[in-house]
Amino acid sequence: MCGIVGYIGHKPAFPILIKGLKRLEYRGYDSAGVALIESSDLDIFKKKGKVSELEKFTETNSFKGTIGIGHTRWATHGEPNDRNAHPHYSHDQKLAIIHNGIIENYGALKTELTEKGYEFRSDTDTEVFITFIEDIKKSLDLNLEDAVRVALTKVVGAYAIVIMSVEEPDKLIAARKGSPMVIGLGQGEYYIASDATPIVEYTNEVVYLNDEQIAIISRENLEIVDTKDVPQEAEIHKLDLKLEAIEKSGYDHFMLKEIMEQPNSIADCMRGRLNANEGLLTLGGIREYAEMITNAKKITIVACGTSWHAGLVAEYIFEDLCRIPVEVEYASEFRYRNPIINEGDILFAISQSGETADTLAAIELAKSKGAFVFGVVNTVGSSISRVTHEGAYLHAGPEIGVASTKAFTAQLTVLTMIALRIASKKGTISDSKYRELLVDLENIPGKVAKALETDKTVREISALFKDAKNFLYLGRGYNFPVALEGALKLKEISYIHAEGYPAAEMKHGPIALIDENMPVVFIATRDSSYDKIVSNIQEVKSRKGKVIAVVTEGDVLIPKMADFTIEVPSTHEALMPLVSVIPLQLLSYHIAVMRGANVDQPRNLAKSVTVE
Ligand code: GLU
Repeated sequence: MCGIVGYIGHKPAFPILIKGLKRLEYRGYDSAGVALIESSDLDIFKKKGKVSELEKFTETNSFKGTIGIGHTRWATHGEPNDRNAHPHYSHDQKLAIIHNGIIENYGALKTELTEKGYEFRSDTDTEVFITFIEDIKKSLDLNLEDAVRVALTKVVGAYAIVIMSVEEPDKLIAARKGSPMVIGLGQGEYYIASDATPIVEYTNEVVYLNDEQIAIISRENLEIVDTKDVPQEAEIHKLDLKLEAIEKSGYDHFMLKEIMEQPNSIADCMRGRLNANEGLLTLGGIREYAEMITNAKKITIVACGTSWHAGLVAEYIFEDLCRIPVEVEYASEFRYRNPIINEGDILFAISQSGETADTLAAIELAKSKGAFVFGVVNTVGSSISRVTHEGAYLHAGPEIGVASTKAFTAQLTVLTMIALRIASKKGTISDSKYRELLVDLENIPGKVAKALETDKTVREISALFKDAKNFLYLGRGYNFPVALEGALKLKEISYIHAEGYPAAEMKHGPIALIDENMPVVFIATRDSSYDKIVSNIQEVKSRKGKVIAVVTEGDVLIPKMADFTIEVPSTHEALMPLVSVIPLQLLSYHIAVMRGANVDQPRNLAKSVTVE
């Protein structure tokens, strides 16, 4: 988490930094700050809260400096306040740092430095880090880059850092391990950022810094070395990112824009890959490995949050269509529980940002044991896309709203395409069923567009339930992970407690919560468990629960029982999550807006979870 930006060139740095921080604000918004060199002084301005607070705080200044760094924080060490905001000075105030990540051995380093007489102005691990660099610089009499390099061999943890020094005012030092960093190449200028969004309007040539690389950046030159000072090649990539994709385009919130974009983002995800007419499904990423996946004895899926829910849907699809056993694991549990991974095992890693720290660590663990790792990632060039053996991008475009929506449906689309490809190769589905499912999948964008037409009904329902204290979401089969996802969306942005459950499991606990005040959202579309879920609805009604049911268009039975029904178009049950999740995204969005919550920047959350 945390957004970091840096600039060195000939233009005033401040407006570039502020604009960049606004683009990165989805990554954290506890505080914001900048460091600039103004008339030979290294000045820091920082403020608790959003970037707009920092702007207000600095509005009377007119900055001219052409080198600077900026940070928007998602606090890990020390509460979100002015004092703990980044950038942080070194003890002698000659260096300034911005940091994304966690220094795990900061406690030991702090004790060591305190014994040497250093004092600290904040509670952060980051200040310890920069003071440690200062100490190395002084005691070994090193220049900035060498001091940073030596320090990096001694710190444990994750970081993307940018450091500037008043004594070497024409240079930025950037380094990363486990947290993302991109460097944009201009004419006599360089841009640094956590992702490409602050860079895209200035240049489309970028270098992705790799783990344990250090960039020494002056106006004329970018030099990259590793922690042993061995020069590294700077591979230049072309950005394929449009500015409109990272702007709100008239919507009140990125989340709403991204919900509404889904007919297009799902179509983009299938573009060039699926042609139902010809019965074609081409996924570059699996071509070479299709044989291996087809023969897999088991597939393990690792992910976190919404991506984990996409993984659960994939479990149902892979087992149903490909007859391959699937285990879906929380990456954070998998990496620490000594999992059994054998040479040649297959692991799928799902992540929107491609930077999720726990998922990255789970991948490294699986690779170290000889597993083949396939990534399902949205952000092009992200860490996961680079460390996996192969993968498929979502092509859903940048997702900026913290609550994931279009990435979820794109993940389902990619995973379904892979499952269909494998099932057809393996012969576990008939050719006619394969062709039928390809057609159904190709028709999904139109059905999602139709499901978005429930917006008005959903808004009316939202107004009635916006003050509820709890919600229960129930689904069976393919719609069970959708229940989990619906509950997560509501919790994330409206701060209403919500639980998702398999509908039949309700009897083993949650049923005790049901009374006339409990809204229960049933995802009860027509599928193989329809009759069963109808009984579950009856059970809730008998206890006076308020039933909101998402049903298939034309259903006449459930509307008679439910208090409210939301109709979505019918499709094959394996594809239904792509459609049935839509009204749940809208429900959480409208309830959050009606409660006055900050939809795009919900409290305590951040988009790209680069800390474990
Ligand atoms: N650990 C640093 C802090 O708490 C940086 C946190 C982050 O990357 O979000 O300030």
